[in-house]
Amino acid sequence: MTKVGVIGAGIMGCGVAQNLAQSGLEVVLLDVSEKILQESRERITNDLRFRSLFNSSEILEASDSIMQRIHFGTDYSLLRDVDFVVENATENWEVKREIYTIIDDVCKEECIFMINTSCISITKLAALTKRADKVIGTHFMNPVAVKRAVEVIKGYHTSNSCIHAVEKFMRRINKEIIIVNDYPGFVSNRISHLFINEAAFVVQDQVALPEDVDAIFRKCYGHAMGPLETGDLIGLDTVVHSLNILYESYQDSKFRCCPLLKKMVDAGLYGRKSGQGFYVYP
Ligand code: NAD
Repeated sequence: MTKVGVIGAGIMGCGVAQNLAQSGLEVVLLDVSEKILQESRERITNDLRFRSLFNSSEILEASDSIMQRIHFGTDYSLLRDVDFVVENATENWEVKREIYTIIDDVCKEECIFMINTSCISITKLAALTKRADKVIGTHFMNPVAVKRAVEVIKGYHTSNSCIHAVEKFMRRINKEIIIVNDYPGFVSNRISHLFINEAAFVVQDQVALPEDVDAIFRKCYGHAMGPLETGDLIGLDTVVHSLNILYESYQDSKFRCCPLLKKMVDAGLYGRKSGQGFYVYP
């Protein structure tokens, strides 16, 4: 059976681990503390419970047997025999740099590394390893279980056989892929973060309230969500990290992070995950 290591048990790591386990894959979910892992166990269990409320017509596998395919831990040696790694750790170069240095030594030679990042260069992370041909970007969308497509990013050295293996992997978990080349932020976040950032400037300048900014995107442009709701969903801390990376990477002032976003993050307003961002979540 294919075994997958999932690194980082935050918003994305939990979503990915759950999606893989629901597709019948064996998962090792790693994070830095038992406390975080306990929270992630509860988050996944709750999501699986909700799933049965929304899918009354389908025959669903019992949540317990899905959970049995997820093994939680903090020790990287658990990744010794995995076939793929999906890394979803904090959007910070130093954090990811340390992880790739470790897993390149621990994981078997043929293991493929999938990087789930918002903006960090796939080529630059791949260069930390001795297997750059087997490193690829897989930008899953949030919430993972609901979104049908994944933005797949080809690093400079990513091989065709790696792309084929990832295509097959994504088919197995019922995801369509859209392949793009590697530049920080790829297609999705290079564009979407400009919207989110400028929307924050609009609120900072008191041009409009958050609900009115988002209403214009939903009701006038027909978007499913406005930029500020999207920022809250992603996590404003992750948005700020991503904007800083885009700014640094392109040396272009259009990516300068809005001071209001920084202030909100300093105040602990991370969006949905902390209960408050541009909106309050009960
Ligand atoms: P998050 O803050 O919710 O979770 C990150 C997790 O990584 C935390 O639980 C943290 O403890 C863990 N972590 C940190 N250092 C670690 C280490 N050395 N080993 C193992 N775990 C470690 O962040 P998130 O929103 O889940 O984002 C994770 C990644 O996915 C980021 O790179 C982000 O840019 C990307 N991403 C996020 C979204 C989104 O909507 N939030 C969407 C697509 C991609």
